[in-house]
Amino acid sequence: MDLNTKTALITGAGSGIGRQIALTFARAGANVGVADLNLQTAQQTVDEITDNNGNAMAIAMDVTNEQQVDQGTQALVDQYGKIDVLVSNAGFQHIDPIISLDFADWRKIIAVHLDGAFLNTRAAMRHMVKQQTGGSIILMGSVHSKVASPLKAPYVSAKHGTLGLCRTVAKEGAEHNIRANLICPGFVKTPLVEKQIPEQAKEFNISEEEVVKKIMLKDTVDGEFTTTEDVANTALFLAAFPNNALTGQSIIVSHGWTME
Ligand code: NAD
Repeated sequence: MDLNTKTALITGAGSGIGRQIALTFARAGANVGVADLNLQTAQQTVDEITDNNGNAMAIAMDVTNEQQVDQGTQALVDQYGKIDVLVSNAGFQHIDPIISLDFADWRKIIAVHLDGAFLNTRAAMRHMVKQQTGGSIILMGSVHSKVASPLKAPYVSAKHGTLGLCRTVAKEGAEHNIRANLICPGFVKTPLVEKQIPEQAKEFNISEEEVVKKIMLKDTVDGEFTTTEDVANTALFLAAFPNNALTGQSIIVSHGWTME
């Protein structure tokens, strides 16, 4: 699986899963656009790639901002000549029961996960269609694209939405040789998850250890966290896959948390 001659844009690539995908894609030979709200962490990912003789550029991008998404995607195409792969990955979590959830928090989660996935997909597809090269759109879903958990209404709703977007892109993209797939990770120990362990402990009035054992990893086959490398290797497989045989699919990487 190599990505030589390919150019990929990865959002939320300054941290966690997105960072690991950026490093993995660069190692596989891709030119990588490292997009993040936080330009400083994006630059750190770029420095790590260039220190290892890879090619990457940092892109300041709020995925909910139409202009920044379009301009950031254009900047990548200006630099490397085209875009072949999008990984729409930027995201965050919000923990609250529905009855005390602010509308503003609902909207923010939906905006980052769903508006962001739409804006990035549209920008990438426009270039891919114009280039007549085809391409691979990879959306970051979650096990929460398939199942629900309490306290996560906006996240679960947004992640279910990315599944619908993925399937629609697969249908519309086919005539342009653009494929779309969704990765659905289980719990991965990134800042996004580290933050919610104490939050859930407080809401459920249990210890942090119990949150990990009795909530997060309870239904896995082996009680193990999924790793950023597991998710990045799945993204590499989807990015390098050559044709539409694999499109409109959702791949769960979760130590068997769910097998739907
Ligand atoms: P993370 O917090 O480590 O990284 C998220 C990155 O997204 C950060 O660098 C942040 O700056 C960036 N970001 C946030 N809002 C943004 C915006 N508006 N525009 C641009 N960038 C923005 O989180 P992570 O765990 O690596 O999560 C990455 C993706 O994986 C998310 O979509 C998340 O929902 C999904 N996911 C994570 C887990 C998990 O257990 N960690 C499980 C399933 C799915």
